[in-house]
Amino acid sequence: MTPFNPTDFRNQFPALQQAGIYLDSAATALKPLAVIAVTQQFYRDDAATVHRSQHRAAQDLTARFEQARRQVAMLINAPTADDIIWARGTTEAINLVAQSYARPRLQPGDEILVSEAEHHANLIPWLMVAEQTGARVVKLPLGADRLPDLAQLPRLLNGKTRLLALGQMSNVTGGCPDLAQAITLAHGVGARVVIDGAQGIVHCPADVQRLDIDFYAFSGHKLYGPTGIGALYGKSELLTQMVPWQGGGKMLTQASFEGFTPQKPPHCFEAGTPNIAGVLGLAAALEWLSTQDMAGAERYSRGLADLAEQRLAQLPGFRSFRCSGSSLLAFDIVGIHHSDIVTLLAEQGIALRAGQHCAQPLIAALGVSGTLRASFAPYNSTEDVETLVTALINAIDLLAD
Ligand code: PMP
Repeated sequence: MTPFNPTDFRNQFPALQQAGIYLDSAATALKPLAVIAVTQQFYRDDAATVHRSQHRAAQDLTARFEQARRQVAMLINAPTADDIIWARGTTEAINLVAQSYARPRLQPGDEILVSEAEHHANLIPWLMVAEQTGARVVKLPLGADRLPDLAQLPRLLNGKTRLLALGQMSNVTGGCPDLAQAITLAHGVGARVVIDGAQGIVHCPADVQRLDIDFYAFSGHKLYGPTGIGALYGKSELLTQMVPWQGGGKMLTQASFEGFTPQKPPHCFEAGTPNIAGVLGLAAALEWLSTQDMAGAERYSRGLADLAEQRLAQLPGFRSFRCSGSSLLAFDIVGIHHSDIVTLLAEQGIALRAGQHCAQPLIAALGVSGTLRASFAPYNSTEDVETLVTALINAIDLLAD
């Protein structure tokens, strides 16, 4: 494998020609040519669907589709590909756990412990299932270091705790809690653990066996793959006990007006024609990633965030909400509204995000109404950082009283 080279890496992303300065990879990553080619080829050449038709093209496509499942299993070290369920993304994967695993098991008075740092995708499904069952969502507060305060776990975990919902990496602060510690403590009271890997998988795919994770969810589009595809890992002993949450074609072995018999996992959780182009595109992304020096790429993008933080720290009113070592830089400028700044930056061709980042409780805990967020990827450059700094100086000049 050749060592990471920023120019070579960058040249694989055609959207950079159009995108100006793209500092929004935590929202969605740009797609490399390798992924675009496979997705295009599917729509151009593959006259088939999967798991249905008997003709040759359909059989070949089904084999590639199932091979992709094995690739995902390998990425996170799942024991078998049968533990991997395709979903639209992290959001759908967590909703699946809430509805198929939690809903039939939760009783009034049961508790779901959710960290205050969570994206809404790992909070709202729990609030919904709590309302459906009479269970209670309990907050694991943010600590002074902007990470979920795991020191409070022994106090908050108890015999009523059925689930702990925790993000591998915050999409705002970039903070990564100690998953091993949290999981050991949660398992100590018999709770199951759901890890939101949407951001974490980009930087360090979790080893679900080593960490003893019960459920792990992620999205393909943050990992250089297509939108609309992601996956849920679940321990097989749990998946085999769960009831399907959506019914339809190919999730069953027998159907009549009297009832139906579900297939075994993972197929019983995949009703309807799946996102085949998404699955093949995600497989292409994983294959492409395996040829890249991602450790070098990761050091490089963190270095860009370090540089941006150092340079911006010289501006009046700059406050960083970054957990150190992250490639995400959430910040604000005291006295100027984040949405005014982001509008001026957009006019100068800089794409970044401002607001609550689908994490309103976290933003409230940080004591602000919102932040800007520059997220750096290996296809960004030091010039991008300098352009951001200059544009921000101009914006502050215009907006400050
Ligand atoms: N969790 C985190 C930490 C995220 O950053 C995101 C995407 N912004 C999600 C969950 C939801 O992912 P998706 O919208 O792809 O389902």
